[in-house]
Amino acid sequence: MYNIMMNKFIFVSGGVCSSLGKGVAASSLGALLEGRGLNVRMVKCDPYINVDAGTMNPYQHGEVYVTDDGAETDLDIGNYERFTQGKLGKANSVTTGQIYKSVIEKEREGRFLGRTIQVIPHITDEIKARIMAVAKEEPDTDVVIVEIGGTVGDIESVPFLEAARQIIHEQGRGNAISVHLTLIPEVAGAELKTKPTQHSVKAMQEQGIQPDVLICRSPVMLDEATRRKIAGFTNVDFEAIFVSYNVETTIYEIPLVFYEQKLDLIVLKKMGVESRHANLKPWKTMMEHFRARKGKARIGIVGKYMELHDAYKSVYESLFHASLDCGIEVELIKIDSSTLEDAGVEAILGKDNNFAVDGILVPGGFGSRGIGGMVRAANWARINGVPYFGICLGMQIMVIEWARSIIKWEDADSTEFNESTKHPVISLLEEQLDVTQMGATMRLGRSASVLRQGSKIFSAYGEKLIYERHRHRYEFSNKYRVEMTGSGLIIGSLTQDSALVESIEWPDHIWGLGVQFHPEFKSKPTAAHPLFRAFIEAVKTNLKL
Ligand code: GLN
Repeated sequence: MYNIMMNKFIFVSGGVCSSLGKGVAASSLGALLEGRGLNVRMVKCDPYINVDAGTMNPYQHGEVYVTDDGAETDLDIGNYERFTQGKLGKANSVTTGQIYKSVIEKEREGRFLGRTIQVIPHITDEIKARIMAVAKEEPDTDVVIVEIGGTVGDIESVPFLEAARQIIHEQGRGNAISVHLTLIPEVAGAELKTKPTQHSVKAMQEQGIQPDVLICRSPVMLDEATRRKIAGFTNVDFEAIFVSYNVETTIYEIPLVFYEQKLDLIVLKKMGVESRHANLKPWKTMMEHFRARKGKARIGIVGKYMELHDAYKSVYESLFHASLDCGIEVELIKIDSSTLEDAGVEAILGKDNNFAVDGILVPGGFGSRGIGGMVRAANWARINGVPYFGICLGMQIMVIEWARSIIKWEDADSTEFNESTKHPVISLLEEQLDVTQMGATMRLGRSASVLRQGSKIFSAYGEKLIYERHRHRYEFSNKYRVEMTGSGLIIGSLTQDSALVESIEWPDHIWGLGVQFHPEFKSKPTAAHPLFRAFIEAVKTNLKL
């Protein structure tokens, strides 16, 4: 398509404060460049010392995102996957922990021949090698967008910024550029302040990087005079100052907001890439769907990390994607499952009561807190014909509820919550019994499931063989397959070797389906996931909308 002799690099950094939407800005730029026909790969550099996000508490850090190849990453990788098409995996998530681990391993192997190991050049070389590896992994890669986590000025970010500086210097301007995100805060009501941006760019310059493009996060669009002023004190061209203002619609409108300001054109110009027609049709169609939605469904998410929105980010996003596809608004009702433990469930979930939900989703989770409440929610949904979608733990809950209520094994449980139960309907696989190390030891990443014709899951996907991502230790216990199916529970899919149960369904119910995998990692705003779509369709049918 393009005859680019070498890969181009775009480093996206941030200043002033965190949570400016650097991930969304980087992903939106990726989407725009893809719209121009370029092959884009995204990389996240995380300055924390954890090797990966797998062992991090969702309360502190948000969800753990899982890629096809089983990397447990930061939720930014999820943003990349929702906005862009390029392959993402272990190579695309770089942490300080990984970098140090591999440098120290090399040192122990004697590969540095007795030299003193230092941040510069050894740590920075390792970072550069990781970035270059992504650029070379797929031969058709045109552009690598590298997001540097943290804020310029943080101690932890320095080696990453230094690696970026070296790549920009070595590749030459035009082959590697810097896009810097800053904040234009509003002070005393209405006054927009540019000073923090000035300081932030200065901090970049002190690291030896002159930003080529600035994206200013501001409550409103900035007028020309303000943008000229910013250009004046930052050495950034006036035409390369962009504004990421608050959108009232959805974050998925950001690519279009940037497109209107010609961000992609300026970035292409700075990289010396000839411009071509922009195809943003999928994004424009998505916004048309957004505006055309009619009616509303209330979906109760019954889980344990309810206070932090990021803890179930991909689940919430997937419900939103399905709402676009189904032409209906979805209101998220976040219910801490422990509140369902003692109160009457009907009093909380039922019609004319506190939440009055039209559908229930029980997402993934670990540990025993709040499990009783989830089982009650599943029971309520099954008995009252309310659509229920169980994801990973949410499917295990369905199995436990079925065994307790229908087969009357009152102590039926997962051995994760009760090791001594007489009916361990969910249990560990043999190979998990001896695992003591917590990081990256679960069943992780992409695997195939074979769907049973005539099942609800088959009609959602419309095909027999599907690939989804896993992240769990416990499984449906095979020794109970006969009793479970004999009492009516439907096994909708199995692994290819039939060894593991991948999904179950309630019989004679509008839509009660649980999957052992995580479909939420594969949903996109421009292509809703078939299971989320089928769930919301069932809710819509139930509501007669
Ligand atoms: N705790 C359960 C397991 O390890 C479920 C995990 C999940 O929901 N991701 O199997």
